[in-house]
Amino acid sequence: MAPYPADLDRWRRAGRIAGEARELGLRLARPGMARRELADRVEGFIRDQGAEPAFPANLSRNWEAAHYTPSETDTELLAAGDLLKVDVGAHLDGAIADTAATIEVGETHRHDRLVRAARDAVDAGIRAIRPGGPIDAVSRAIERAIHAQGYKPVVDLTGHTIQPYLLHAGKSVPNAGGYSTASLDEGEVVAIEPFVTNGEGHIEDGPFGNIVRFRADPGNEDPALAQAFARFRTLPFTARWVAAPDEKTALRRARRLLQTYPVFVETGRGWVAQAEHTVLVGPAGAEVLTAV
Ligand code: MN
Ligand code: MN
Repeated sequence: MAPYPADLDRWRRAGRIAGEARELGLRLARPGMARRELADRVEGFIRDQGAEPAFPANLSRNWEAAHYTPSETDTELLAAGDLLKVDVGAHLDGAIADTAATIEVGETHRHDRLVRAARDAVDAGIRAIRPGGPIDAVSRAIERAIHAQGYKPVVDLTGHTIQPYLLHAGKSVPNAGGYSTASLDEGEVVAIEPFVTNGEGHIEDGPFGNIVRFRADPGNEDPALAQAFARFRTLPFTARWVAAPDEKTALRRARRLLQTYPVFVETGRGWVAQAEHTVLVGPAGAEVLTAV
């Protein structure tokens, strides 16, 4: 058994806020909506609830699986038929919730089954969680649900355990069986996040997706940089969030201290749907923290 998080209620509150932010994003995603505005609105909601975004709103489309957030100058509008992943995170003093859902913009209904497969897979994975139970049982349940709809899991992307201020805390939850020999312990917080595709089931690095993170504490030498680190720690962030000119300049100078994330693109340019919940491994199974 792992120690439960010190303040469980804080994790539950963060989960609720992230879940509501996800639903807001899904409601706002209409043809003609600017991607930039959608990201700002969802992140603004999280702040209005007294939390902080745990990472920039990921608004990846179509064969982009993950890690795209609009830049400050992004002017693109959502179009009917876009398969949009709304992947959002909220944290309360480091208690992180990470959740996602997929919507086909404009109700064109070309990818309903793909979207449903992702939803079925996350539900099946969550149902398979047992305290002390093997991660592989969760992975197999996810894979089975995806195959049942005739699609492939994206096997390069995985769910992950979460710890305070640590979005990827060490254990991975693969989206197909046969990869993991670890188990999930009671008290652990874990994100289950199947990605489903009609492509090849793999991703490759695309262009920079406007998301960065500090590799380590930059120290106090540069006050503007220290201020940015105090705000973001090692969580992912984006230039859209940095308004102060001295902080902007400091971050440009500190490029080598920052990890940059590429957009993950499906190798066969297949369409990708994702569903994600953060759960707590409880005594009888998973408690979903990001339900609304
Ligand atoms: Mn996520
Ligand atoms: Mn995640």
